[in-house]
Amino acid sequence: MTEKCGVVGVSLDGRDAARPLYYALYALQHRGQESAGIVTHDGFQQHSHVEMGLVGDAFGEDDLDALNGSAGIGHVRYPTAGSVDSSCAQPFSVSFKSGSLGLSHNGNLVNADEIRDELAAAGHAFTSDGDTEVIAHDLARNLLEEDLVRAVKRTMGRIHGSYSLTITHDDTVLGVRDPQGNRPLCIGELEDGYILASESAAIDTLDGDLVRDVRPGELVVLQEDGDGFDSYQLVEQENTAHCFFEHVYFARPDSVIDDTLVYEARRNLGRKLWSESGVETDVVMPVPDSGRAFASGYADAASETTPDGEPRAADDNGVEFAEGLMKNRYVGRTFIMPTQDERERAVRLKLNPIKSTIEGKTVTVIDDSIVRGTTSTQLVQLLKDCGAEEVHVRIGAPAIVAPCYMGIDMATREELIASDKSTAEIRDEIDADSLAYLSTDAVADVLEKDRLDLCLGCVTGEYPYDIEGEETDRDVSRPDVGGTQLPADD
Ligand code: SF4
Repeated sequence: MTEKCGVVGVSLDGRDAARPLYYALYALQHRGQESAGIVTHDGFQQHSHVEMGLVGDAFGEDDLDALNGSAGIGHVRYPTAGSVDSSCAQPFSVSFKSGSLGLSHNGNLVNADEIRDELAAAGHAFTSDGDTEVIAHDLARNLLEEDLVRAVKRTMGRIHGSYSLTITHDDTVLGVRDPQGNRPLCIGELEDGYILASESAAIDTLDGDLVRDVRPGELVVLQEDGDGFDSYQLVEQENTAHCFFEHVYFARPDSVIDDTLVYEARRNLGRKLWSESGVETDVVMPVPDSGRAFASGYADAASETTPDGEPRAADDNGVEFAEGLMKNRYVGRTFIMPTQDERERAVRLKLNPIKSTIEGKTVTVIDDSIVRGTTSTQLVQLLKDCGAEEVHVRIGAPAIVAPCYMGIDMATREELIASDKSTAEIRDEIDADSLAYLSTDAVADVLEKDRLDLCLGCVTGEYPYDIEGEETDRDVSRPDVGGTQLPADD
């Protein structure tokens, strides 16, 4: 699975925004490694620098010096919609009759093609096949007729899907979160201004304070002197659809989402995993780094109770927590290896077992997900080759049975091992002694959310958006964007 994108926006009192944006993008690098970009505005003109590659490679001193202005936005991207080339790298910038726009988008629209066709028929020329340009053109058109807040509201009334946006309209910086709040976006206060960012870790990097999450359906406008921000609740919906995988996998463990430290949420999911499917083994070990917080919570809970939920006797320490797998950080992620054979070799290069921790022991290995099953199969084999007597696999999330349409590059349905196999069949395929996933109810429970306030599409096959050919778990439908008329404002 691949993270999607990271967005950031800052408005400062006099100081140039480029360097704070650059540091914030570093903090969000885990959300996208394909391209990085910054757009700033100095009150007279817009400046842009967007490059393929990592943040550290995309900007030199001269590039940052040329990005003048105390207002700006930034973006790191892993492609989710549109081509894998520079035409889809962001922020997307455009100049039009009433000013200039820069847009950074995290998420994925499910009706972008309809809107693109409609705008193209009305004379808009597109330079990319990405959905961000669709939002930019729609907003630019609305800005010709409306003030900023009403223009954003109109665009929100037409686009359907997942979006957290940071936007520059000349030197005004905005943040928008889709009405179901699928992707995260938060507000922070800096010494001399305000920041919007996908994750609070970016705010920490700038020595700022997290103020709060941007609410689903909210537009936040940062004041130009860095003095504060204005909030407009433009759309309200009964239920949210937060991506639960942000907590499980994508977000940094040191980020705070919905007032909860991601690391703590993962530890609590691990505790729940023990109470649902704990198994007594000599050792519990994480798959580094993704399984570490789950394994630590699981082992903690295992030291307190037996798998039946009974308190441990005073002389019973439960299961030992150990780091039995060492990660080689310089090997590329398995998903970018184009062939199955290369992927399998990459797993072996990436993880090296510590024999003394494993040999002659029964082992529980904990990870956050099984996507294709390749890694788990290799891992179980690796542990058995090292002399493990039994290998039990526990996963801190429900089984992934369906693809994501909201901006996660997950795999096709055919590639997902759980899309057509039962847990017992997967256990046999990966050759584990036992396999268990966390239940969806447990996820909702730990995240203290009603199931209907979460997106669980990839683990239930029922989505919170109206997606062609897929089931929904709520009363939701796409807006009608047909014709060339702007929709009537309410
Ligand atoms: S389908 Fe899965 S990965 Fe995609 S937004 Fe929903 S919960 Fe997140």
